[in-house]
Amino acid sequence: MSTRLVLLGPPGAGKGTQAVRIAERLGIPAISTGDIFRANIKGGTPLGKTVQEYTSRGALVPDSVTNEMVRDRLAQDDAADGFLLDGYPRNVAQVGELDAILADAGLSLDLAIEITADPDVVVARLLKRAEIEGREDDTEDVVRHRLDVYAQETAPIAHVYADRGLLAQVDGIGDVDAVTERLVAAIGAPSAG
Ligand code: AMP
Repeated sequence: MSTRLVLLGPPGAGKGTQAVRIAERLGIPAISTGDIFRANIKGGTPLGKTVQEYTSRGALVPDSVTNEMVRDRLAQDDAADGFLLDGYPRNVAQVGELDAILADAGLSLDLAIEITADPDVVVARLLKRAEIEGREDDTEDVVRHRLDVYAQETAPIAHVYADRGLLAQVDGIGDVDAVTERLVAAIGAPSAG
């Protein structure tokens, strides 16, 4: 069974929700770079102050900042037996950094899973989320920019993992539970019940 996992997919595809469910099922931590950034912004930490100008406009935080944070996070005890990364890697250079982090520990990635979703559906979902959660990067302009960044910088990652034979694709449209079961099947974990 795969336990070192990357979850890919456009903003609004349900990555965050599914990452938490899958991680719980597998007994591994869900590590969301976006959540870590948001917690630091909220807490007013130096990291938060550095990243806010990027996150607020939907731009990627510089790799130097993000990579160091991920390296530290993956070195923590709870990630020793596996993890599910949500929102990292986000560009091809970060793929190389994740490879290096794992190689330094004598490890490798088991699987990258891409949640696919139609762009119109994800925009609608994100604008609805904006009303509920009030995330400052969920306004229509910023949402569209985040989708452009995804298409240009992050979508190519799927090809990199596909070339390595490490990519699974899962349809993210539909009932939340149904999508979870599709993901579980793709990972090869025991199903619920
Ligand atoms: P997310 O919650 O994954 O949508 O991330 C929210 C924001 O955090 C993104 O729009 C970026 O500004 C920043 N961010 C999250 N993950 C990364 C990453 N791996 N590299 C660069 N910036 C990131």
